[in-house]
Amino acid sequence: MSRNFILSVDGLSPTEIGNLTRLLPKSGSLLESGLFAKLDSGVLTSATAIWAEILTGKPWHHNGCAGYSAPNDSLNNLKVINEDELSDPTSWLLRGSEGELDVLINIPLVQPNKSTRIWLADGSLPTNLRVVPRSLFEAGPFRDYEPRPYADYATAFSSPSKNSSASIASEMKRIDCAVQLHRTAAWSQFIWRITLFDQLAHLAGLDILSAPDLSLFDELKLLMDHLDIALYEMLSEPGINWIVLSAFSHVPCGGKANINTLLKDGHFLRWLPATQAVNAGGRQEAVSAITKAPLAKHANVSMEACIDLKSTVAASPVSGCIWINRAERFKDGIVSDADYEIVYADVRDYLWTVLSRRFASVIIEENPRRTAKERNLSPDFMVWVEGVEFHNLPCDGSQSAHLPRTTHNPSGFVLTNCTNYKSEYKMTPTQVAGLIN
Ligand SMILES: [Zn+2]
Repeated sequence: MSRNFILSVDGLSPTEIGNLTRLLPKSGSLLESGLFAKLDSGVLTSATAIWAEILTGKPWHHNGCAGYSAPNDSLNNLKVINEDELSDPTSWLLRGSEGELDVLINIPLVQPNKSTRIWLADGSLPTNLRVVPRSLFEAGPFRDYEPRPYADYATAFSSPSKNSSASIASEMKRIDCAVQLHRTAAWSQFIWRITLFDQLAHLAGLDILSAPDLSLFDELKLLMDHLDIALYEMLSEPGINWIVLSAFSHVPCGGKANINTLLKDGHFLRWLPATQAVNAGGRQEAVSAITKAPLAKHANVSMEACIDLKSTVAASPVSGCIWINRAERFKDGIVSDADYEIVYADVRDYLWTVLSRRFASVIIEENPRRTAKERNLSPDFMVWVEGVEFHNLPCDGSQSAHLPRTTHNPSGFVLTNCTNYKSEYKMTPTQVAGLIN
């Protein structure tokens, strides 16, 4: 049976491939020998949602994942999505069988609950497990493996250069873990995600790989040398199918918008009085403190007790995702099936109009299965505005003039040696699985 090796360098754009391969003198030429396609993630900018499409081969409205979390039984009650919640099975992760293993390093959504998996946490799930099986702890670099060196991005931004260095050190450790597993585990599938390029894009800015005058460049260069040796060994293995991909990239942040504030201004949403919103953010922060997951602005803010659901017909509790407060779907929903289509069209048209007044490129993608009865966590529609960061809490700093350096852009790339690849120049995350199936 063929062996599949997938490396993710999430956060890099297609134009950064040259800078990447220049810093990988040995393995870079192997990468450049692969076929290239742009990866177009549509309206998705969350790593979790794009990885859900990669892992299931199905779009967000099929697999049910459009962001880091989704409302459970109420728009005030969010849950973190993991693979067991997806409507479609993560088919190509189930390959591991007797005597063969899947090695999964730092991959969103994936649970450590199968005996055929070696799993290193990405820090996004509400568990404090870091390495499974736990026997790995006994030796080598796994003992102090940490998915992230800081608790959240707010902490990281307080000292960007110190935390950039910490990110490099923690990624270095992850490379050591990957090298050891690659050599010693009887794997048939090896999926390994590097998050350093994403972290540095937020902490240090764009084009980090082509900034030799940057103070941390020497540390970064050491890491790239380390990665180069590892990658050369991994990619030159005979008969291996390999894919190197970036699920998304970054652009300078040109503005902020709070969709819930816009919905409030349009009389589609009402906040609860501040005194009642006591739990806002509380639970998600607790989860994040345990896992050291980044409390990213595009990820896991909680809406708990923020929205007055008796007076709300639509809300955006997850970045870019809009749900209609349907009675049939949510326990405190108020929109009846009879009114649903009218409310849906009103909310959609209103948001498009108010966002288009402020920003040049507004894209709305409707959920074609939004009225389907089957269990599906996906929102009614999604909004994406290029270079704009979405906020959703009542008091979240979206009114302040300060802008983050960068924000996510749904454009990445794929490089591969897979022989069934038909050069299409552009592919979607759902097509990535087809390269090796
Ligand atoms: Zn990012």
